[in-house]
Amino acid sequence: MTSAPTCENSEVVTEMGAQPTVTVATSWLNTCSGCHMALLDLHETLVELLTTTLSLRYSPVVDVKKIPEVDVALVEGGIGNEDNEAEARELREKAGTVIALGSCACFGGLPGLRNLFDVEEVRRRALCETVTDGSGVERMSEVVPRLHGRVRPVTDVIDVDYAVPGCPPRPDLLGDAIVALLRGEKPALPTKNLCFECERQQVEMHKPQRSFVTTGVHALFELEEINPTKCFLEQGVLCIGPATRAGCHGRCVNANVPCRGCNGPPPEAMEQGGKMVDSLATILPAGALMFSEDTVGTGYRFTLPVSIIPGAVEGSEAK
Ligand code: SF4
Ligand code: SF4
Ligand code: SF4
Repeated sequence: MTSAPTCENSEVVTEMGAQPTVTVATSWLNTCSGCHMALLDLHETLVELLTTTLSLRYSPVVDVKKIPEVDVALVEGGIGNEDNEAEARELREKAGTVIALGSCACFGGLPGLRNLFDVEEVRRRALCETVTDGSGVERMSEVVPRLHGRVRPVTDVIDVDYAVPGCPPRPDLLGDAIVALLRGEKPALPTKNLCFECERQQVEMHKPQRSFVTTGVHALFELEEINPTKCFLEQGVLCIGPATRAGCHGRCVNANVPCRGCNGPPPEAMEQGGKMVDSLATILPAGALMFSEDTVGTGYRFTLPVSIIPGAVEGSEAK
């Protein structure tokens, strides 16, 4: 049995007082709800927070219809329709502190990939072609919120006080951020890229003069064998670690799966795909070619709505 993740500052939770004093709202917008699952993954820390410090006033998990005034709002998901936008704006008005929770809220995330398609096409596909009764009749009604032309991150629509990226964020990172805010401190997120916390060895990349270790680029399944301790890029497998913010403790790379960039770009990078092209040009030129064949899938899987390069594709203009 694995032990439940706990946040580094969990001992301070019990010091904060016997009565819940900080009122909280949580909300999910254009999203999969996985970031709320990450909150639940705080396990005992969450129970302690809710019994000693936090008073949950509004959330998908409580039956409250009207958003009350609260101290802190955790907002998951991007802005994909008019209801999302209205709720984000109301939360901003009613919450002292707003935290963007997860990469959908920070960058638009996976649902932002719909920006590649015309909104009418998306609407027809979701509400007409995929209806389960096989009728092909559009299930549009006045209660279905009107889709925006493109998905945007919450941070594009309202000011947020703090943003925790990740798809979903690591529960302990999230817990530490919440506890730090409760203590009146500014939570510190990692500023470097994932390669700094990755335990796989980079050997060739650090040689002052190197010949490239591989001229080809391989999908993981094409390789008969993958060295579990060696950097993916040095084995010719695309890994977005150089263009991804650290903080996940290498969840995927430690499980022998290359990083897909879910934490978004490190803070100094203008955008994730551009940063990756830059890195590949000096590490794995063939990777740059592969990148050009699947630009969005490789470099913008989680950040398309905030991208500069494919953000300008036809049909993705805001409406
Ligand atoms: S960031 Fe990932 S886990 Fe969180 S809501 Fe978006 S898709 Fe789901
Ligand atoms: S490129 Fe990927 S595998 Fe290589 S060091 Fe960076 S995160 Fe680790
Ligand atoms: S390794 Fe990359 S894709 Fe996997 S959790 Fe970390 S940042 Fe996300």
